[in-house]
Amino acid sequence: MKNPHRLVASKPIKLSRCSTNGKDFHSEREVAEAEFFTLREELIEWQQRLYAEGERSLLIVLQAMDAGGKDGTIRHVLRGVNPQGVRVSSFKAPSTLELSHDFLWRIHREVPTRGMIRFFNRSHYEDVLIVRVKNLVPKDVWSKRYDRINEFERLLTDSGTTILKFFLHISHEEQHERFRARLTQPEKLWKFSPDDVEESKHWDEYQAAFEDALNKCHTEHAPWFVIPSDQKWYRNLAVCRTIVETLREMNPRYPKAVWNPDDYPLENGK
Ligand code: ATP
Ligand code: MG
Repeated sequence: MKNPHRLVASKPIKLSRCSTNGKDFHSEREVAEAEFFTLREELIEWQQRLYAEGERSLLIVLQAMDAGGKDGTIRHVLRGVNPQGVRVSSFKAPSTLELSHDFLWRIHREVPTRGMIRFFNRSHYEDVLIVRVKNLVPKDVWSKRYDRINEFERLLTDSGTTILKFFLHISHEEQHERFRARLTQPEKLWKFSPDDVEESKHWDEYQAAFEDALNKCHTEHAPWFVIPSDQKWYRNLAVCRTIVETLREMNPRYPKAVWNPDDYPLENGK
């Protein structure tokens, strides 16, 4: 079945017309959760095969507005997956050293090695999102980055990395609901940052920047998916399902033995 959240190259998206409501795609929370658990078991198996094969890798980019659920997605989707085969890279505001290089320098160092699954919690897309909205570099600098990003992603896919990019799409109301929870629940307070409220005032500019990033950098080799994310249970299911479907297509295999087992008789440890 066609993935309903995958962008279509010929049809530029308008985020205001993309639902943030998972209930538009799945009405039964319990059923969705059961499907998610089954898919996650399958992911655990595929991860093992990818690692054993040791030939290819999978890069999963997560982008969202603040409180969009990047951390929660990683926590839920990766639960039970062998930690030796997965890594998460979180990209915060760049350091002085990072800023003294090209914008992809710090990203390239973090791409997955063969056999690995790597999650990017934020990514090189920040360099055409916050950087654009806050005018951190002039327009003639950030506007060239879309092409550089497409070329960089092409380099990775040509080198054996499969790329999936998810935009976790929440409504402005849901974002404020989540900020409120962070402010009122002591165990969530640490996640709150006054900057988030400041950034939230630029909602429309961020949505426009996201729209450009999605439309300009959706390619056959590195597709974007817009995931309705107001309901965490649907978000988890939609992300996990897309990853599992991709791994099914990649179909990594356990390597065949290059030796003859009969040559190694093991006789009770003697
Ligand atoms: P949470 O969503 O849980 O709050 P976070 O990813 O927002 O986690 P923070 O430390 O709160 O983590 O924020 C990281 C900040 O770094 C974000 O505001 C992000 O936009 C910013 N950032 C990331 N990459 C860049 C970049 N290349 N240039 C400027 N700012 C960046
Ligand atoms: Mg934050």
